[in-house]
Amino acid sequence: MPTRINPWSLVIVVILAYWLFTLFGGSNNARTTVSYSDFIAYVEQGKVARVVLQEGRINGFFKAPERIQVGNTTETTDRFTVIALPPGFSDPQFTNLLRQNGVEITNRPPSMWGQLLFTLLPILLLIGFWWFFFMRSQGGAGQVMQFGQSRARQYGKEKRVNTTFKDVAGHTEAKRELMEVVDFLKNPQKYIAIGAEIPKGVLLVGPPGTGKTLLTRAVAGEAGVPFFSVSASEFMEMFVGVGASRVRTLFEEARRNAPAIIFIDELDSIGRKRGAGIGGGHDEREQTLNQILSEMDGFEKDTSVIVLAATNRPDILDPALLRPGRFDRQVVIGLPTLEERKEILQVHMRGKKFAPDVDVNNLARLTPQFSGADLKNLVNEAALQAARENATEIANIHFQTALDKIMLGLERGTLKLSEQEKRAVAYHEAGHAIAGEVLPYADKTEKVSIVPRGMALGVRWSKPEERILMSKEHLEDTLAMTLAGRAAEELFVGTITTGAANDFKQATSLAKQMVLDWGMGDHFKNVAWGSNQGPIFLGEEIAKKQDHSEETSRLIDADIQAILDRAYEKAKQVLSSNTEAMHRLAEELLESEIVQGERVREIIAQTKRPEAVAPAAFNPEI
Ligand code: ADP
Ligand code: ZN
Repeated sequence: MPTRINPWSLVIVVILAYWLFTLFGGSNNARTTVSYSDFIAYVEQGKVARVVLQEGRINGFFKAPERIQVGNTTETTDRFTVIALPPGFSDPQFTNLLRQNGVEITNRPPSMWGQLLFTLLPILLLIGFWWFFFMRSQGGAGQVMQFGQSRARQYGKEKRVNTTFKDVAGHTEAKRELMEVVDFLKNPQKYIAIGAEIPKGVLLVGPPGTGKTLLTRAVAGEAGVPFFSVSASEFMEMFVGVGASRVRTLFEEARRNAPAIIFIDELDSIGRKRGAGIGGGHDEREQTLNQILSEMDGFEKDTSVIVLAATNRPDILDPALLRPGRFDRQVVIGLPTLEERKEILQVHMRGKKFAPDVDVNNLARLTPQFSGADLKNLVNEAALQAARENATEIANIHFQTALDKIMLGLERGTLKLSEQEKRAVAYHEAGHAIAGEVLPYADKTEKVSIVPRGMALGVRWSKPEERILMSKEHLEDTLAMTLAGRAAEELFVGTITTGAANDFKQATSLAKQMVLDWGMGDHFKNVAWGSNQGPIFLGEEIAKKQDHSEETSRLIDADIQAILDRAYEKAKQVLSSNTEAMHRLAEELLESEIVQGERVREIIAQTKRPEAVAPAAFNPEI
């Protein structure tokens, strides 16, 4: 966001400048300053025609232009100033001297305004500072001055948008849907003539960073119309009513520039169901929301202003927003698929230099759950890494470093572990890796490391397959793999450590979902109680009553525990039948700190061939 200048600070600066000005010179800027003794000399030589006596200084005029020494140079001037006369200066000899030499004398009292300002200045400054800090504490200096103006006007407005659909990778369906909006903005007459109603609002639904803003900009760019963007949370201000009036100016401005696009980001921050959530209604929010609704209703049939809004929680939006004539169209912008991740990477790799070993397909495979913004960040981190090493092109190793850094935080080279702790970590991670390899439905290992990073002492990266559906077998093997760290400690280290805390958290939440959402508990085959795994949004879920009995709760807990226990037993069983591989892998980890997935598979193959246990019970490709 560009910095705004607080108008009050401007006022203060001007006052301050004036004050300094009157203090140290005033109107003498065009004059040359001479010393008092030089001045007397000039008077005695009869060169001075006229003086104006003012508080603190004498402004003088020569009879004819005079060369005066100023520092190292000389200046020719017909006027000069003598400053630093003591206040109330009155030397009768001085006046006589002037008179004798025929100098015309004018007395000028200091200006009223100047004097007033001079005395009031400290008070003004005090008030100014007080105001400044008051405003600041109220949430941002300067906002108060722009009261009802929409922020979009100052920040979001772009007359010419250069983004096109080409800059947006993937999202094929969304683009097709939005092409219609583009077409309407370009040829409204076509639609009006046939009496077709045009959507006024389109809701883009999806997690952050998936390109909702980008798509909207592309719509504006394709249609060649101005783009007004504002984040709904910016409507919320310190004074009630400001949000509503901001909405009004935003829509007015857009209408004046029609055809145009308004983009409202984070619509859910004001568009939440009225009366829902903790803390009751928020007047400001409701007024702002109502204003948006009435603005959208107030569009003439032929006003070609289209409102696009983004949210990742459509379920909590006020139904009034979703009624026909408002945001009646929803376009889902999900996390990119494998293919889309590849395209997005390619978009952001455009115009950069890459070594031949950079494999986009592999990068896409290594980045499940990455949003478009994350992928953009990955490419940039890799480029930064390459620059840091003074490389001429970005290579695979830079991508690997960037990936590790993004997913796990920086390496913590300073963290010193004891030999014993290192051993525990090595066996823990080896446990994850071996279990992941041996269990048929778990994700395979990309690499294992015992270099402490971020919050973790060791890490096992998996190479997840692209899955839309998750089978029960996959979930169970994933749980076993997750708990294999602790199992390895128990079997090989002789003690258990706190290093498994995060594993338990993940495993428990997965088991909970299996029971509550996916009907995979022993007692709950065909029922979903809902695990409330989603983000809690301001009490909506908290307020939701638990709708099952205590007996059910008890059974749920028992089921979750049973699933976890079985997974742990499975992990222990897998590891104890691969003891040799465990020792080898742990040794190699202690020696070289990082072991690649390939090597893990080699070790397993060398030590023992696990019997093929792959009943083809579930085919995820159906
Ligand atoms: P959102 O509005 O959904 O939070 P943005 O549109 O702000 O996400 O996306 C952030 C950045 O991520 C974009 O500026 C763009 O560089 C990149 N990005 C996201 N999705 C894509 C995509 N599908 N294709 C290309 N770049 C993308
Ligand atoms: Zn672990």
